Amino acid sequence: MAGEPQDDCLFCKIVAGQIPATIIRETATTVAFRDISPQAPTHVLVIPKAHYANAADLAAAEPQTAADILSEARQVADQDQLESHRVVFNTGTGAGQTVFHAHAHVLGGRGMQWPPG
Ligand code: AMP
Ligand code: ZN
Repeated sequence: MAGEPQDDCLFCKIVAGQIPATIIRETATTVAFRDISPQAPTHVLVIPKAHYANAADLAAAEPQTAADILSEARQVADQDQLESHRVVFNTGTGAGQTVFHAHAHVLGGRGMQWPPG
């Protein structure tokens, strides 16, 4: 069923506590943890507890949870006292998505270029 945990999903295992992560925030619908390979001084992933392959599928099925991800991204930026930050949803292999459980990257603490690579 849509949104159900997947046995072979790394982020479902983090939600279930089966794989350790540096969790910095949790709500009824979301978990935020530090990226294992940070690309900026702050690099946090905000994920839905429910499993969807990407942010677009999440928004279609559970728009409130997609909104919760954005609220939590704001809270992460506040918590790390970021003056500016970037929120990224890589969607599809060609855009750099490697983990197929929806997640927002929250990046900050250094200057950033535009356009992204
Ligand atoms: P993406 O390439 O957009 O799918 O992002 C996946 C992110 O998950 C990458 O930035 C990885 O560094 C990160 N990642 C992979 N495994 C873990 C883990 N066990 N704990 C925290 N972050 C992870
Ligand atoms: Zn999952």
